[in-house]
Amino acid sequence: MPEKSKTYEKSPPKVFIRTFGCQMNDRDSEIIYGLFMERGWKIAESVEDADCILFNTCSVRHHAEQRAYSNMGMLAKLKRRRPGVILGFTGCTAEKDKDVVIKRLPHVDLVAGPGEIYNIPDYIEGLMKNRKKIVAAGKLERPDRENPSYRGNKTGTYVSISEGCDNFCSYCIVPYVRGRQRSRKKELIIEEVKSASEMGVKEITLLGQNVNSYGNDLKDGQNFMTLLEEVHAIDGIKRIRFVTSHPKDTKEALFQTMRDLPKVYKHLHLPLQSGSAKILKAMKRGYSPEHYLGLIDGLRKYIPDCNITTDIIVGFHGEEDSDFEETYSIMKKIGFDSAYIFKYSPRPPAESSRLADDVLPEVKKERHARLLELQKEISRRKRDSRRNEVLPMA
Ligand code: SF4
Repeated sequence: MPEKSKTYEKSPPKVFIRTFGCQMNDRDSEIIYGLFMERGWKIAESVEDADCILFNTCSVRHHAEQRAYSNMGMLAKLKRRRPGVILGFTGCTAEKDKDVVIKRLPHVDLVAGPGEIYNIPDYIEGLMKNRKKIVAAGKLERPDRENPSYRGNKTGTYVSISEGCDNFCSYCIVPYVRGRQRSRKKELIIEEVKSASEMGVKEITLLGQNVNSYGNDLKDGQNFMTLLEEVHAIDGIKRIRFVTSHPKDTKEALFQTMRDLPKVYKHLHLPLQSGSAKILKAMKRGYSPEHYLGLIDGLRKYIPDCNITTDIIVGFHGEEDSDFEETYSIMKKIGFDSAYIFKYSPRPPAESSRLADDVLPEVKKERHARLLELQKEISRRKRDSRRNEVLPMA
C-alpha cells in the first residue's frame, strides 16, 4: 500500500468519478476512489469541487457511450475556467476508442482502459507535474490483486469474482474491452468479503460477466458453487446475490446450491436475449429456447418462488416478425419478475457490427414497446397474485 503522501496532509486534492453503465463499472469506480484515498486524496462532492474528474465509461450500448462523450464535452467550459483541473476518460469506451477520444475531446488529459485502473492515480499524479496527455489502453488484463478497503455503500456492496468474458456473443463488445475471462483467486475474493464484513457490510453481490464459468480457467477444482459455499461461511454476511449468469453454463447444481444455502438470495438473473432459435444462433449465444425453458423449469422445481429476471434484445440483425413473436410468447410463457429490454445497436468491433442493421428504427421501437407493455402486465399480475395470497378472503 503506497505511503500516504505528506504533501497532501494540509490540503488534500479531491477526485470526482462519474460512473456510466454496469455494476462492474460501479465496483471499478469504488476501487479507483480507494486507490486515491490510500494516497491521501479526498472524494469531491461535485465536479466544481474536484482537482481531478474521471468519467468511467460504458460502451455496451451506443446511447450510453454518446452520453459520456457529450457530458465530458460540456466540461470544456469548466476546464477553461479552471485550467488546473485534470480530466480523465476511463472504462470501456476509453479502451474501445483509445485512438479517437483525444481528437473528440481535446480538453481530456488521460484516456485509460479497464485494464489500467490500478495505474490511474500514478497517471494523474504524473499529470499534476507534467501536462503531457496520457493514452493508456490496449492492455486488457489487469493484475489480480488485493483491492483497497474503501466501500461507498456500507450495507450492500459488490465483489468482482472474474474479469472479462470468453463467450464472444456476436453483438457484445465486452471481450474486446475487458479481455478474455480471468477468474480471481478464491483467496483474494474471500479476503475481500471478510474485510467488507468487518466494515459492517451485510449484503454481498458477486460480480462476473458470466459467474457460472468461474474457476474454469483456474484449473484448481474451484467452481461457482464451491465459491458460493465459502462466501456463505463468512460471519457477518447476511445475504449473497450474484450477477450475471449465462444459460449455456448454468447447471442444476447451481439451483441446488441456491436452495440449500439460506443466505443466498433466491433470485436468478438469466439473460435470454431472444426467444427465436434462429436469432440465438446468429447471436452466438450457445443455447436454444427449449434449453432455456428447461433451465427455468429446473430452477422452479428447486425453488418454486424464485425471482427470475432477464435481458432481451429486440431488432437484432435479421429479426423477422415471426422471430419477435417467438420472443413475445416465451416471455409470456415464463412470466419473468422483470426484464431489461434493449433495442439492438451495432457495437464495433463485435462480430454482428459487420452485418446490416436491417431492422428499421420504428420497428425496433414498436417491438420494444410491446415487450415493455407485456412485462408490465406480467409484473402487475404477479404483484396482485402475491397480494391476494397474503390478503384474507373478504
Ligand atoms: S456472455 Fe456474451 S453478452 Fe455477456 S459479457 Fe460475455 S460476450 Fe458479452
